[in-house]
Order: sequence, then C-alpha cells, then structure tokens
Amino acid sequence: MRPFSSVPSLLGGPEGPESFASFVDRLSAHQLVPVPITTLLSRAGVIAHDRHDLLPAGYGLDLMPEQRASFAHACRLDSGELGAMLLRSLDGTAVNLSGLDVTDPNSVRVVGHREWAGFAGSSCCPACLADTRGWRLRWKLWTSFACLTHGTLLVDVCPRCERRTGGYRAERSNAPRFATHVPRPGFCANSLPVGVNLRGRGARPCGEDLRQVPTLDLSGAPRLLDAQRAVNGVIAMRVARVAGQAVSSLTYLGHLRSLMALALHAAQPGDPGEVPDPIARAFSQSCEDRDDRRASEAGVRGTALHPYKGAPNDTRLVAAILPWAVELLASPDQEGVTEGLRPLVERSKGIRGSAVRGAARDFHLRGPLEVALDQALAPRALFHRTMGHMAPAGTGSYRTFETRHVPHLIWQEDFERDFRPLLEGSNIGDTAARVAISVALVRLTGKHTVPASIGLLGLEGHSLGASLNPLVMHLGKTGGKDAFQAALHALATRLEGPGPHRDYRAAQEALRDFVALDVETWERCRMAAGMKPNKSAGLRRNTAAWVWATVLSSDPYFSPALSADPGKQEALREVYRRFEREQLSRLREVLGEVVRGMEMG
Ligand SMILES: [Zn+2]
Ligand SMILES: [Zn+2]
Repeated sequence: MRPFSSVPSLLGGPEGPESFASFVDRLSAHQLVPVPITTLLSRAGVIAHDRHDLLPAGYGLDLMPEQRASFAHACRLDSGELGAMLLRSLDGTAVNLSGLDVTDPNSVRVVGHREWAGFAGSSCCPACLADTRGWRLRWKLWTSFACLTHGTLLVDVCPRCERRTGGYRAERSNAPRFATHVPRPGFCANSLPVGVNLRGRGARPCGEDLRQVPTLDLSGAPRLLDAQRAVNGVIAMRVARVAGQAVSSLTYLGHLRSLMALALHAAQPGDPGEVPDPIARAFSQSCEDRDDRRASEAGVRGTALHPYKGAPNDTRLVAAILPWAVELLASPDQEGVTEGLRPLVERSKGIRGSAVRGAARDFHLRGPLEVALDQALAPRALFHRTMGHMAPAGTGSYRTFETRHVPHLIWQEDFERDFRPLLEGSNIGDTAARVAISVALVRLTGKHTVPASIGLLGLEGHSLGASLNPLVMHLGKTGGKDAFQAALHALATRLEGPGPHRDYRAAQEALRDFVALDVETWERCRMAAGMKPNKSAGLRRNTAAWVWATVLSSDPYFSPALSADPGKQEALREVYRRFEREQLSRLREVLGEVVRGMEMG
C-alpha cells in the first residue's frame, strides 16, 4: 500500500485536535479525484474492501492497532498525531470508555448509553468550519458549548435537516450516514427529514452549508467563556480543584454531569445566574416544558423525566448551567459548595418531598456534592446566632425599631458605603443584595421567617431571591461576616434612634394606584427636559415606575406601574429597561423634583 500523495495539514491550536471522521472527510476531498469514505478507508488499509458494511465499529472512537498502523502509514502521521484524533485519546480524562471494544458493536452501544460521551454527533463552530472545514474532536463532548477562538456559541442542530449536527448512525455503531458518497467538508452530512428524502440508493445528504449557520456571539458574556476555558483547562491538565481538593479531570466532569442533571431536574429561570437573553430564554422554555410534563405525569408511576440519563444535546442549556456548576465547584471549601447547592436542594425538596435524599443516588452525587446534600438537609445554623440579636454584633435581645421604617431596598447610600465593598467579587446583583439586607434587618426585630419578613416589607407576591444564602456564602469566603453584622446592627441602632423615620408602608399604600404619571405633570417634565410632545402611555408608565421606586427606596420592577398585570410583567420590564437606557438620563433631573415634591407632601 502506497501512502497518499497529498494529505491535508493537521489542525491544532486552542480548539484542539481534529476528529478522525473529519480528517477522513478532508483527506478524501483533498485527493486529486475525491473519493467516497469507504474507498478511502480501503485504500488506507482500514477496511479490507470498499464496502460500507465493513466500516469499523465505533467509527471515530477507536481503531484496532493494525488499522492505526496502516492509516498512519498511508497518511504519514505518527501514532500520536493519529491517536489524538480518536475519542479514545480522551479516555480517562474527559470520557470513560472502559468496556469499549471496537471489535464488539454491542459494547459501543452499551458505553454510548452509559456515558455522556457524545458518540453519535457533534456540535460545531461555523466560523471554524469556514476557516478550516475541520471538526474538532472536543466538539463531541457535552461540556463544549463555546468556541474560544471565535467567542461564539457552538451550533448543535442543523437548520435544514433539524437533526443534531455531525450525526452518525448510533444504531450502526456510529457509521457515517453517506459513507459511499464523496464527503463535502463544511456541509451537513445528515440525512434529510423523513418524507423529504428518498430512501436507499436515492438518498442524499442534507448538504446545508454549516459554515453559514448563524450563531450567538458570546464576546459580551465573559462569564460563559471563562467557564468554557476552565473546563477545557481541566481536561488538558487532567486535574481540577474542587472545594480546595485536587481531583482527576474525570471526577470533575462527573461532578459537572451530576450538577447539570440536577439543574435540569429542579432549577428555575435565574437560578444558575446571569446569561445572555437567548440562552436565558432557552433555559426558561426548558424549565416550562419540564414542569408541564411533570404536572401531566403527576401520580403516574415511572416518570419519563430522567435528566441524568440523556446528555443535554443543546448547547444553550449547557451554556445556561455549566458556568454555575463550574463556579460552584471552584468554591474554596465545603461550606461554599454546600451554600451553592442549597437553593437547588430546596427546589428539589419542593418536587420530591422527603425523597430528596434519593437525589444522591439518582444524580450520582459524590464526594463534596454528596456532603453538600447532607449538609443542606441538616438543620440550619440559626439566623439569630449568625446575624441576628444573638450574633456578636447583636444586643442580646430583639431590636425594637419598627419594620415599617425599613424600605424594600436598603438605602442606597448605606449600601454603597458599608455593604458594597463587602460584596466585591460576588455575582450577587444590587437589587438582590439590597432586598436581602432589608430582609435581614427586619429579622432582627423578632422571630420572623424569610417569607414573613418579605411580607412585613410589603413585598409579598413578588418573586425575588431575598435569600441571604448567597450573601452569607460570599462573606464566608472573604471573611467579611463580622463587618457585615456590624453594619447591619448599626442600621438597627440608627432606626432605634429618635429619627425622624419614614413610614415606607404608609407611603407604599398611598401610591398603590400610581401606575402612570398624570398628564399635567408629564407635560411639565417633558418640556423642562426639552423633549418633543409624546402621547405614548409608555413614558408616563415608566416615569411613574422610576418615581415610585425612588420615593420608596425600591426597585422599579416592584412598582404597580410594572407589576400590576402579571401577564404583561416581562414585556413591561423589557420596555422599561429600554427607557432606562435611552431616555432616563434626560429626565432624571426633572423627575427628581417630582420625587422631592411627593416626599414633602
Ligand atoms: Zn470557532
Ligand atoms: Zn442538515
């Protein structure tokens, strides 16, 4: 057997080695007269004859030693270069292929079911395909959702055939679908949807130009790119740190799989942290679908929902959840892991009730994750000892100020001066932090639960993360707990002082129907701001939301203007955000006068 006279150059760089199947496709297209995959593999000595039924089992996963030797010889590759293109090269670091034997198609099926190893398909980066036409091996891994070279979300579904990209025939040991056709690198080689395509010999590949498929730019989402970089780094280094301890990359990826499945089982929109809108929407949709299915299956034995079993073949869902999982595992100690997991354990408790302990088994929680579940289910350290009146900064008895003097959001000035510096480096939003501080303040006055305290603040009915847990977790890491307690109790002492103190509940009640600025006031503001006449109800509504929030030291989202109709809430918030970006700065000064007028009255 003679080596090929022309071999495409190997791909390297930060996106890692090319996959074997992709290299074969490019090799074929590289020949003076391009040939089908089977012809090429028989010329390379991988199969004895040019017949598709002879294709090796587990195509692209592994090869027999003699197949490796003849392919490497035919392509003038060294054994390391060839090995790096086969999924076997990641065995023990990113995937667990134990039990996989390419002479036994059944073993390919069994391991494929057991692992989230991405046997029969691959995501792809259209820009990378445009650059090189090569598919990277790493794109097969479920943990790959972003291309770091192009800063984009990987594509996982072909828009034309609507199948997972890079699809191989799982039922035929991963054989390529059109092995007797000349491959066209960069174009979709899936079959067309049933009904569109002819069967048998007449069948044609989908042929979509995957290099042109639009995808999401993640360059403005460093949190997501950092997470992808962290995972790639762990796989490259073969070790990771979890809760301060070194673990193998395979153990780390096992934890990621557990967290991913647990989040798909129980998380709600917003739980895994900030992500770009299209990703947040995809995640919300998936939560909604899951909850619908769960509701329709209620009481039926043997639910179809087993998120641990099927790999999440949707890069948007991985992009939504993986950063949270990576950040959680990066906690420096067990306490951090426990506090990070606690909200999800609470969610799961709401779904599974007392069976929540079974989550350890169902989601294969191991090591620090198993400990975290145990700790999250153990009785809590009591608030009154950690932060409340029995804490070191406390007075030993409940504080005596009145809760109606506490605003929804702790005062901006106090927040900026005493609390914000303690939150540096956390990803807790300002509103969440300020509400949590107000809730904590209310809890200093008596034996109030968190929901009861939210009620005392006049915030019942608003879904908000008023939990102090993320905050306490962050303070635990940074050692800021004492300073936080001291600042909280200083506010309590001030509220116990002579005042005057505003009655925020009475003010909120007085503004109960304040859903729009009245026409006269709006006209005055508009003219003072030098804006053209505008009859839009939106401006009067949005200015009312801002004025309301400023008067009450609250968040515009909680205002009657934006929250009176729950069905429209999301749309109104969207419009409000635009108002804040584009119009508020011109109006801020005159609206400030409206606020002062209302505070006087
Ligand atoms: Zn790319
Ligand atoms: Zn396609």
